[in-house]
Amino acid sequence: MKIGILGAGQLGRMLGLAGYPLDFDFVFLDPAPEACAAPLGDHLHAPYDDEAALAELCRRCDVVTYEFENVPAAAARFVSQRKPLLPGEAALVTGQDRLSEKKLFDQLGIPVPRYLPVNTREALELAVKTVGLPAVLKTRRLGYDGKGQAVLRTPDDVAPAWDRLGRQPLILEAFVPFEREVSCLAVRSRGGELAFYPLVENVHREGIIRTATPQRGDPLQREGEDYARRVVESLDYVGVLAFEFFVSGGRLLANEIAPRVHNSGHWSIEGAVCSQFENHLRAITGLPLGSTALRGHSTMVNFIGGVPALAAMAQIPGVHVHLYGKTPKPSRKLGHATVCADGAAELRAALDRLNALVAASEA
Ligand code: AMP
Repeated sequence: MKIGILGAGQLGRMLGLAGYPLDFDFVFLDPAPEACAAPLGDHLHAPYDDEAALAELCRRCDVVTYEFENVPAAAARFVSQRKPLLPGEAALVTGQDRLSEKKLFDQLGIPVPRYLPVNTREALELAVKTVGLPAVLKTRRLGYDGKGQAVLRTPDDVAPAWDRLGRQPLILEAFVPFEREVSCLAVRSRGGELAFYPLVENVHREGIIRTATPQRGDPLQREGEDYARRVVESLDYVGVLAFEFFVSGGRLLANEIAPRVHNSGHWSIEGAVCSQFENHLRAITGLPLGSTALRGHSTMVNFIGGVPALAAMAQIPGVHVHLYGKTPKPSRKLGHATVCADGAAELRAALDRLNALVAASEA
């Protein structure tokens, strides 16, 4: 089976690593000169809207997926007219626009923070009155890891935020004083079989996930699964979908969906019976889904901007290191480690040691 992947970043790299033992072959399309999935297959080095490259990808592959949700809609349509594109174009297009996502959540009866679309300075003033402060102004498109956002705490914050972000369609949403942030990772097969990983608790700093910990018996598991089920069924979704939530007042409020494998699921490589990466590949190639059950206790820790010394990390029991082969840059995701243990106390002890190394590498 030959699988085409739009995007060749770390998610593509981990998809490639999961597919290798299954004897899947990969062709990646990515314009980046430094594409860290490239060693795992053939790399078509071209822009996402290059029709000759897209046609070659389709010619060479049985099925096409993506690991980057900002693939242009026209490219997705071009591919889906030639080969199965999974997840489909509707999921990609919905996930690219915060307003389309919110409208879908509204339609499906999934609670969201108060929000209003904002296209003009006047609309922003009105939205601030209606939504109230504090609030978060976000670009509808191309925002990730907290980029393209401004927190408005007082009326004085409105003008600078508009000056910085106001040249594109925006959305203003209420600031949620959340107790925690969680994500639900769902996987749906070509035949409609559904599975869910245990809810993951995510800690963000400066908009970027720092740690992700799968929960045991989270009281919100059923609610998360219910909302994720509504989304994947309404989109006739195939593959892994990540649904990020705020927990506020003990209930889930939808933040956003990512129509792909997700940073909050990296722990599943060692911490679940079948990882999100293998399950995504199983789903899109028509295989039965693998078990999403936990194997022991685990937490994933991201390496952002710097990487601790491998020799030091290797001394900590239960630490599994994944380096993405990228050139270090501030705020760049360079790798992660998943710490695995049989019990919570053992996990805590190993995490304390790893976190000290990570803090030193970021300093
Ligand atoms: P996003 O790109 O929307 O996932 O935002 C990145 C992070 O910023 C989230 O994971 C939260 O930690 C924070 N954030 C985003 N929107 C809000 C909000 N409405 N209220 C509080 N925090 C938010």
